[in-house]
Amino acid sequence: NLDQGFGHNSSTMIVVNTPSQELAFTNFAYCSASDFRKFAIRGSNPAQVIVGDSVVLPLVYPLFALLYIQILHHSNVSDGQIALNAVQRRHTKVSAGDQISVITFFPPTTFSLALLTLELDYVKAKANRNEELDAVVLAQHLQKKFSNQVMTIGQKVLFEFLGTNYIFTVNQALVEDEEKANAIERGIITNDTYIVFEAASSSGIKIINQREAASSNIFRQKNFDLQNLGIGGLGEEFTQIFRRAFASRIFPPHVTNKMGIKHVKGMLLYGPPGTGKTLMARQIGKLLNGREPKIVNGPEVLSKYVGETEKNVRDLFADAEQDQRARGDQSDLHVIIFDEIDAICKSRGSTRDGTGVHDGIVNQLLTKIDGVEALNNVLLIGMTNRKDLLDEALLRPGRLEVLVEINLPDENGRLQILQIHTNKMKENSFLAADVNLQELAARTRNYSGAELEGVVKSAVSFAYNRQINMDDLTKPLDEENIKVTMNDFLNGLQE
Ligand code: ADP
Repeated sequence: NLDQGFGHNSSTMIVVNTPSQELAFTNFAYCSASDFRKFAIRGSNPAQVIVGDSVVLPLVYPLFALLYIQILHHSNVSDGQIALNAVQRRHTKVSAGDQISVITFFPPTTFSLALLTLELDYVKAKANRNEELDAVVLAQHLQKKFSNQVMTIGQKVLFEFLGTNYIFTVNQALVEDEEKANAIERGIITNDTYIVFEAASSSGIKIINQREAASSNIFRQKNFDLQNLGIGGLGEEFTQIFRRAFASRIFPPHVTNKMGIKHVKGMLLYGPPGTGKTLMARQIGKLLNGREPKIVNGPEVLSKYVGETEKNVRDLFADAEQDQRARGDQSDLHVIIFDEIDAICKSRGSTRDGTGVHDGIVNQLLTKIDGVEALNNVLLIGMTNRKDLLDEALLRPGRLEVLVEINLPDENGRLQILQIHTNKMKENSFLAADVNLQELAARTRNYSGAELEGVVKSAVSFAYNRQINMDDLTKPLDEENIKVTMNDFLNGLQE
């Protein structure tokens, strides 16, 4: 689909060398001021063509050697000439004196690159060929430098980093839509672009911190509307869980394989009861595959009959197993939430009855996420109020390896939780004007989310109660005029 994005104006221009040595290592091409003006004002929608004070141009060469670059004007370039540096000339297979056709290009604005795989190499042979490049720093640098620039598969780009000139080749570009990542021919680099580095085998460059770069890049900018999901506070925790559990899942296997890092298959949310662990895990499961995740409860899974519990655990994974068998790599991700996991995964040998029943269950769980025939398509989210009771074996790498502590909400978190739980009554005018949620948030130090919800319920019960005439229960209720007042909330606090 080469037509997409191209303007209709093309000019024939003569290739010349970069006008000065100092411009040899930039990614701009240069033309004369009058040609520059022509490019800038031509095209049906010039505003789209201009990026800063430059024009984005594809250079089209016979045989479709394409180069998308930005063009600037320079006084040393004559009309009808286009000055390309050595890398640009090599890439488009043109030499000084060649005639090429230049077309204005409307950068695709509808998508940005979600992932960019860059192969790094030096521009020239270097004495020191054992350099370590930090992927985190590099990604930030590239994002800043090439922000809003069009990149095309196969394109070679020069850049200077800490005094050395490198060249990168764009090897792969993907853009994510709601469900999966699609390979694209070109896109624009944005702050959300997730950049993966590869080192050209001959370069001797070693890339470090690839994993950190991956996790710091993606989802960094995604703001989930937690309030809308009914979750108060916990913004950072939610983002952390989402990033650790799902960032890698969005990318296709050939990408994640190159990273050499396996998906996180289990995480543990721990902290005081009623702080929103279940709530959050459930919403995350839903966000991910649009349906309710499976939630089981430790004590429920524990069956009185020996052997029955292990069957319960096996059943939990049955759907995921079937899906994996049927669809392999294409299988959905199955989120399994295990509430009160400490009930079945207490330190082995510490079981009350000493029968070793629990050991069998723990082993069963571990086999499913970590064993020889482990499932690749599950995410087990364990939850506990008592992390100290858990069997250490469960927390090893490859198992419930990401630990996220969910604490009691701070004042701002409490305010959000109170807003969430009073939102409906407010919409329906049942909340009296004197209710000051900010003040209630300030007065509820050390309350958990569940306790705050309890306060709201209690306040509502006081309001209901006021409408009931105890002397004459047959008297019709005045439904319209129920108001939950600040006083009701204060009474609720006392309960
Ligand atoms: P946990 O799993 O941490 O014990 P839950 O998620 O089961 O706690 O919380 C119980 C209820 O308390 C939730 O269903 C929700 O109504 C309320 N709640 C707890 N934490 C929050 C929160 N952070 N935001 C909104 N509601 C909360």
